Amino acid sequence: MVEKTCSVEGCGKTAARELSYPDAKVLEDKAGLKLKVYHARPPRRPGVVYLCEEHYKLWKRLSREERKIRDMVLKS
Ligand SMILES: [Zn+2]
Repeated sequence: MVEKTCSVEGCGKTAARELSYPDAKVLEDKAGLKLKVYHARPPRRPGVVYLCEEHYKLWKRLSREERKIRDMVLKS
C-alpha cells in the first residue's frame, strides 16, 4: 500500500485519516489552510482529503465548534 501524505499544503506528514472534502472544508474556511483534494469528480463526487494526526485533531476541534453553532441555529 502506498503511504498517503497529508493533504494540507506544506504539511507533508503521513496521513492518518481520510475525510470527504465537504467535511474537511472547515479547515479551509476557518483555519485558512489549503487542501489538496483527491478523486474529485464534480458535481457528483466531491472528493476526499487525507489528514495527518495533527491536522485531524485541528479538524476535530474546528468541526466541533461548527456543529455547536449549527445546533444553536437549529434550536433557535
Ligand atoms: Zn498535516
